[in-house]
Amino acid sequence: MEQKGGQLDRETFSCSICLDLLKDPVTIPCGHSYCRTCIQAHWNGEDQKGLHSCPQCRKSFRPRPVLEKNIMLAALVPAEKRFELLQRH
Ligand SMILES: [Zn+2]
Ligand SMILES: [Zn+2]
Repeated sequence: MEQKGGQLDRETFSCSICLDLLKDPVTIPCGHSYCRTCIQAHWNGEDQKGLHSCPQCRKSFRPRPVLEKNIMLAALVPAEKRFELLQRH
């Protein structure tokens, strides 16, 4: 019951490809964030189609966007992980 407020946070910190917490988070031009390795693997699979899309909103990009590190999320994710570990005990 008390967990409800944490729902949105988890989504913010989660990668919709691996459904895990973002590892090395990057933001793509539509504003969605993924782990660098996840979005790279996704786009590698789309390379032959010549366009690269966002798995979440299906927006497509051409040419393949340069991945920008999401500094804010990168700084917050370790804190969120720590919080989760604390909650477990
Ligand atoms: Zn991921
Ligand atoms: Zn998107």
